[in-house]
Amino acid sequence: MQLIFEQIRAGGDRNFGYLLGDRSAREAVLIDPSYSPEAFVDRAREQGLTVTHIVNTHGHDDHVNGNGRARALTGAPIAAHPSLEPDVPLEDGREITVGAWRVRITYAPGHSPDHLLLYEVANELLVTGDLLFVGKVGGTSTREDAETEWNSLQRLLRETPDTATVWPGHDYGIRPSSTIALERKTNPFLLCRTFDEFVALKADWAAVKRRFGLK
Ligand SMILES: [Zn+2]
Repeated sequence: MQLIFEQIRAGGDRNFGYLLGDRSAREAVLIDPSYSPEAFVDRAREQGLTVTHIVNTHGHDDHVNGNGRARALTGAPIAAHPSLEPDVPLEDGREITVGAWRVRITYAPGHSPDHLLLYEVANELLVTGDLLFVGKVGGTSTREDAETEWNSLQRLLRETPDTATVWPGHDYGIRPSSTIALERKTNPFLLCRTFDEFVALKADWAAVKRRFGLK
């Protein structure tokens, strides 16, 4: 199997990071290694992979706090949204390659102003960071940010095939990953028809969670 894609529990607040690689090309990227950079680097080394980039979905501390250690261990540059002043700035529409794999970058602000989605085209893997979780969406603190997030989610739904798998930044759902089709059908935030419904659900979320026994 040429594809290497591992979801790794990084610690913190049920944080997930990822190892994406090409076994033939012996290259990989680490995505949000955060609390456990050693574990990510070990998984790459055990499989004979050179780490070419350390990629961040966004700049929140629980996603970037392993960058320094991961870079020291691998010598790989940090790639992230330009506002984070990384070694490799990732603008909307940019592609990075990992061996034979192409990873398309989409700017998806809302939860944070520096948030990116990473989409591996050939295998339809969508790393959603803290924009979209299994069964919920990323937290926002203002109505304006909620509207920005809503727009990012609507774009994601327009541009991603139903068959794509969803790989979130935290293990907050009833399963650790999902598909766009399943989230479209079951995620209450994606079932909202308007922004007003969406923002009302966000305001009411604590009560909804209690009602359905969600974590
Ligand atoms: Zn976050």
